[in-house]
Amino acid sequence: MAGNKTFTMIKPDAVENGHIGAILEKINAAGFRIVAMTMTQLSVKQAGKFYEVHRERPFFGELVNYMTSGPIVAAILEKDNAVEDFRTLIGATDPQKAEEGTIRKLYATSIAANAIHGSDSDENAVIEGNFFFSQRDRF
Ligand code: GDP
Repeated sequence: MAGNKTFTMIKPDAVENGHIGAILEKINAAGFRIVAMTMTQLSVKQAGKFYEVHRERPFFGELVNYMTSGPIVAAILEKDNAVEDFRTLIGATDPQKAEEGTIRKLYATSIAANAIHGSDSDENAVIEGNFFFSQRDRF
C-alpha cells in the first residue's frame, strides 16, 4: 500500500526567483498538508550526503554547487498516495519535458535548476524527511 507522506525541497533557483509562495499555493491546492517546514541553506557536506546516490554521475559537482548556492525550503507533506501524486504535480526532471501546469514547467530554469525536489519512493521519503526533521518538528 502506498504511504501518505513525501518530502520536498523548493530549490535555490525557485527561492531566488521569488516562487516560494506560488509553489506552496499549488501544493496546498493539490490537497497536500504541510507536516513540517524549514528554510535553510545546505552545506557542501549536507548536499553531498543528500544526493549520495548521484555521486558517480557526471553532474554531481554541478548539482552540489547549485544546491548550496542559496537557501532552500524543505518540507514533509501528507496526502493519500503522496509520493506518486507529488511527482505528478512537479513534472519531469527536465522542465522542457514536463507537462503543462506542473511546478517544474511553470517555475524551473533548467534540468539542473529545476525548482523543486520530490521523493521518488516511500522509503526515500522517510530517509529524506529524517535528514531534515526530528519527531518534535512534525505537526
Ligand atoms: P528527480 O528525481 O526528478 O529530481 O531527478 P534525478 O533523481 O534524476 O536527479 C536529481 C537532481 O539532479 C535533479 O532534480 C536535478 O536537479 C539534477 N540533475 C538531473 N539530471 C541532471 C543533468 O543532466 N545535469 C545537471 N546539472 N543536473 C541534473
